[in-house]
Amino acid sequence: MSLEDKFQITRDYIPIGKSRPGTNNKGITFLVSHDTGNPGSTAYNNRAYFAQNVVSASAHAFIDDNFILEIIPLDEKAWHVRYNVPYDNRIFGKDANDASIGIELCWGDNINFKESYERYVWYHAYLCRKYNLDPETDIVAHSTLDPARRTDPENALNRYGITWGEYLADVKDYYNEFLDYEDVKAGQMAVPGLEIRGVQKDFVIQYGDRGPGVKRIQEYLIKAGMDLREHGVDGIFGPETLGAVRKFQRMYGLIEDGIVGPNTLGQLKKVLRNPGLQGQENPVRPYPGHYVMIGDRGRDVEAIQRAVNVTPDGIFGPVTEHAVRQYQGRMGLQVDGIIGPATWNVLF
Ligand SMILES: [Zn+2]
Repeated sequence: MSLEDKFQITRDYIPIGKSRPGTNNKGITFLVSHDTGNPGSTAYNNRAYFAQNVVSASAHAFIDDNFILEIIPLDEKAWHVRYNVPYDNRIFGKDANDASIGIELCWGDNINFKESYERYVWYHAYLCRKYNLDPETDIVAHSTLDPARRTDPENALNRYGITWGEYLADVKDYYNEFLDYEDVKAGQMAVPGLEIRGVQKDFVIQYGDRGPGVKRIQEYLIKAGMDLREHGVDGIFGPETLGAVRKFQRMYGLIEDGIVGPNTLGQLKKVLRNPGLQGQENPVRPYPGHYVMIGDRGRDVEAIQRAVNVTPDGIFGPVTEHAVRQYQGRMGLQVDGIIGPATWNVLF
């Protein structure tokens, strides 16, 4: 099951009238998070209210513990933020009603908040993917747009011990999961924690890269216990990130090339899912005191094979030698296909 199928979206539109102007918006450039401010009122309670079309205010979607209910098509305007507030124009260059989707969280009384909240978070992440928005910069609280009159959705979130920042972080987690699943769907990346054969290796994030993919890797690295104290999550793959990737790869016995491909990403996800794993796979092996080279057999050969990404069978044949030579070349070591102390100490 893909994440997109995790929840269903119900589209049950109200008729055109005061609450649904029926005019198209100008494309979606941000999302506005609301809560209904009305404890216990469900998504369908809200739909029933706005379907009477007696008020010129509404939102596109209402979310409770059962429904993600769209009452206005997403390509149409909804009146969910006052026109004469300045912040939306200042930050996004447009009026919220013309360029954003309004999403309402239902909560209180008999509504199971956990269920309601998860749908709300999921739906925001889903819309970020759909409209190519950045959850960090393109989601805004109604209270931010209209601070004089509104306190939503923090008012609801805070009651359940969730800050705005924590909420955004939750949306980002879901959003990242969407990205990972899309990579998998495109055949470019292994499903974390699963062995996928024939995975293309052309998806990599490496030194010099910039953008959301780099940010995602930096977040994962920090969560996995790596240190990015100087630059943090800045979306730039510089020396600090390179060092953290190499250290992570060394800790978990991966090829220490500083490049984030399917293996490294898979290991990162594995560690994030099992925090108990952190540091436990550290394969520190003392140098055996002699060269390891073609013709050798045994546990050391197996460890070397794993480190240079050769199927470990414990037999140092030509394939392993070739992989060792490539590794030495990448790491700036003498390229002789023989594991002496210098190559060993970089490997382990
Ligand atoms: Zn609101």
